[in-house]
Amino acid sequence: MAGKLYHNLIGGEWMASKSGQTLQNINPADRSDIVGIFPASNAEDVALAVAAAKKAFATWRLVPAPKRAEILYKTGQLLAERKEQFAREMTREMGKVLAETRGDVQEAIDEAYYVAGEGRRLFGVTVPSELANKFAMSVRMPVGVIGMIAPWNFPMAIPSWKLFPALVAGNTCVIKPAEDTPLSTYNLVQTLIDAGLPPGVVNIVSGYGPEAGAPLVEHPDVRAISFTGSSAVGSHVAQRAAANFKPVSLEMGGKNAMIVMDDANLELALEGALWGAFGTTGQRCTATSRILLHESIAATFTQRLVARAEALSVGNGLDDGIEVGPQVNEQQIETSTRYCEIAVAEGAKLLTGGKRLIDGPYAKGTFFAPTVFGSVTPAMRIAREEVFGPVVSLIEFSTFEEAIEIANSIDYGLSTALYTKDINRAFTAIRDLEAGITYINAPTIGAEVHLPFGGVKQTGNGHREGLGALDFYTTWKSVYIDSSNTLQRAQIDNAE
Ligand code: ADP
Repeated sequence: MAGKLYHNLIGGEWMASKSGQTLQNINPADRSDIVGIFPASNAEDVALAVAAAKKAFATWRLVPAPKRAEILYKTGQLLAERKEQFAREMTREMGKVLAETRGDVQEAIDEAYYVAGEGRRLFGVTVPSELANKFAMSVRMPVGVIGMIAPWNFPMAIPSWKLFPALVAGNTCVIKPAEDTPLSTYNLVQTLIDAGLPPGVVNIVSGYGPEAGAPLVEHPDVRAISFTGSSAVGSHVAQRAAANFKPVSLEMGGKNAMIVMDDANLELALEGALWGAFGTTGQRCTATSRILLHESIAATFTQRLVARAEALSVGNGLDDGIEVGPQVNEQQIETSTRYCEIAVAEGAKLLTGGKRLIDGPYAKGTFFAPTVFGSVTPAMRIAREEVFGPVVSLIEFSTFEEAIEIANSIDYGLSTALYTKDINRAFTAIRDLEAGITYINAPTIGAEVHLPFGGVKQTGNGHREGLGALDFYTTWKSVYIDSSNTLQRAQIDNAE
């Protein structure tokens, strides 16, 4: 099926890339199905988009924040009306099952309503001045043009986490969607426009990372960059942006541990493990990719997990009853395959899966069998490096302290989970696990939009999305108003 042709959105106009190049958005469940043809943009397109965003900033920043918020509120309402259509289009371009793509659109709806409320807050601080007849306060100001680079695993939710707080704060945006999933960004931005967003406030430049993402990072009129993706690319983006002191918010990889103690509700932990490891086909930065099992329950848990993993129905996410969709593209299949080979070579025991599915209904897509490795030790690469596929490693431990140590022994620090009935251990884990997110008796996935989202160590660089995003998308201005009619010198005239 030939795909529909899409253009970039620049200054409110839909236009082809100056490069004349395009890229194909392919359905990973059936690679003969072309979802759409999108621009493969270059630096020239990026420059036009940034110029449009800069022009729009002059007026958008002066629109009262509650009015900006009303557009976001309306966007939330329109997204709710369009939820089913957008979810189906997202499954077609990205692969994850319908229940999950509905959740992805719902996350954008939640974010719209949450951020719309911020339009009537955007709190600053008012404090007493140290001098008489002087008033002191600080207010949040917009930053300017923000460049946004998005990944493919949450094609609408992640762009909404970036766009909505940036917009309510008065910034204008240029977004480069992931090359595998541009359609969901288009759907999101079209909805913003239908809700009343003025031209040029959000611009879309579709394309590949080095050709369209890199020029955005380097453009002098882009005042800040919000990036979600791999740690390798994130490091590159941060280094390029540092050359001209551009703030960068980075949200990157994870190797998230679930600890199952001997007193855990095993059935609950099992459900959590399946959802955490194989939900979104393991392609979440918060995916449960290490399960740390207390030695006394390890054998039982392993046996039950393998049986349940083998019973998962893998297939086209648009079909009823499917629990695990395809991986997003050939490259991800190659990564999963390579890590399975590395794991076996290092002595891990392949308990199930470990291979691409190619027969019958799988022939046209990029499917990988849900995979479980046993006998994994913390030093193995399969226990330390992000696979971003349906591959989970089981590691045994003897004591709670050892489990915490293993959980912390990696370079990432995004999400963690502990299954136990012991409240004291739960609080110790909350204190000691090195991660931005800790779940008790729930898997490592399931973040809500109004809490801070992000991680420590190589997962991020200290910024947070959700609660905390406004700290990135605003800059503080301190204001002093002197009504004394005299020169009052701080630290001097009141120091007697
Ligand atoms: P993923 O594993 O999600 O594909 P990547 O880090 O490769 O992670 O990609 C995340 C986003 O970063 C995508 O939109 C991609 O196009 C973009 N990207 C890739 N390389 C670069 C680069 N050199 N500069 C800027 N953006 C890039």
